[in-house]
Amino acid sequence: MRRRGAVQVLALPAIALLAACGGGATPRAEPADLAIVGAQLVDGTGGDPLADSVVLIDDGRVRAAGPSDAVEVPEGTEVVDATGKTVIPGFVDLHAHYGGPLEATEQALKSQLYYGVTTTRSVGADDPEKVALLLEANAGRPDLPRAYTAGLGFSYPGGFNSGFTNTPTTEEEAREMVREQAALGVHYTKMWINEVAEPNRKIPPEIRSAIVEESYRNGLVPIAHINEEADGVQLLEVGLNEFMHSTVRTFGPGGGVPMEDPVPSRAFLDLCLEKDCAFAPTLSIIQNNWHFAEHPELLEDPELRAVMNPGVLERWSDEETRAAVLAADGFEGRKISFRQVQDFVKTLHDHGIKVALGTDSGTPNVPMGWGTHHELELYVEAGLTPMETLVAATATGAGRVPPVGEADFGTLTAGMSADLIVLNADPLADMRNTLQINRVMLRGEWVDREALLPSQ
Ligand SMILES: [Zn+2]
Repeated sequence: MRRRGAVQVLALPAIALLAACGGGATPRAEPADLAIVGAQLVDGTGGDPLADSVVLIDDGRVRAAGPSDAVEVPEGTEVVDATGKTVIPGFVDLHAHYGGPLEATEQALKSQLYYGVTTTRSVGADDPEKVALLLEANAGRPDLPRAYTAGLGFSYPGGFNSGFTNTPTTEEEAREMVREQAALGVHYTKMWINEVAEPNRKIPPEIRSAIVEESYRNGLVPIAHINEEADGVQLLEVGLNEFMHSTVRTFGPGGGVPMEDPVPSRAFLDLCLEKDCAFAPTLSIIQNNWHFAEHPELLEDPELRAVMNPGVLERWSDEETRAAVLAADGFEGRKISFRQVQDFVKTLHDHGIKVALGTDSGTPNVPMGWGTHHELELYVEAGLTPMETLVAATATGAGRVPPVGEADFGTLTAGMSADLIVLNADPLADMRNTLQINRVMLRGEWVDREALLPSQ
């Protein structure tokens, strides 16, 4: 892409549009780097789609985006004809885990970008080396999505995921651990607050409060995995306002068994709204436990095969394994429980509470990148419209990264980072059409997708 030196620095949208060419009486706009012309535009704001649009891109950002009869393409701008295609913002996935050695993390990030996940958030399993790689991705590596990290998360001795997390037993210890994470440059602190078989292994409330307070003091955003309403209430009251998963029992004892009363209380919903709370519900980690057993034909997709963990691919390719999953005791109950989680998502959404896309990508059954698309499908199944789902997958998630509410990506509106996906088919007609990717752009540069898939 062309760089135009000093002019670029001054090329704020208004100035660029007013810039006159030498000597002429008619003002003419400065050329932009690129114009994507003729596509349906879904800009991530939730506003009506534009059937025939122009997206003008300059210096990595959207200079203007709108109907083709309102946004002029300045002479000298490279034009990409995208007639018949749909342009959407790149996806923001707020829930990923990167296991294995550093090379595996790098490949996982590349797989996400291949699938149009232009922003990812790693929530709680990163050692300092991994944090450094994610910060590199955050700073702008063209072959990796923009990444945020919660470093190493927090649990309690003997508690959920305590095998690899920070497990403070006093408030002072907790504060010190938060400061250690902050010193690495992470963006969030993640707490796992979840019952395990042994009782009283959840982080005690006073330690949670210390973590929340110390996080804010150090410029970090505290977030929490919860599975119970009472924990959500306690955290909201001490200032944390972003949750992963739901208040339907999914993990630990009782997980996956239908609840008698799965509906969140009105008081909880109102409190969530009052505190501007968001949920990243991670439907994939639940439903993908049987999705490939029900749909083995998906395993024929070469792109999915490429990003799927080889051991997991082998497991789902085995007919007997698939049959055993579908015939297992409690399988129907797990499906009912999952429907309760989907209803939870719909209830939140209907109450005006923010739902942001998060998948738990990187856990065995949620393939990097592909899983993000499948999550969209599960939100539509939950009752969100494709348009609402696309907002959840873009602007809403972007609105939760620090500094919270100030993201310069997530929508395709003037001034925002040009992170986008060009689709060959219309996602508003069928959510699965997000998989029909034509091209992906990150920070105004076309991504070399072929270079990103793992070599098999
Ligand atoms: Zn997770």
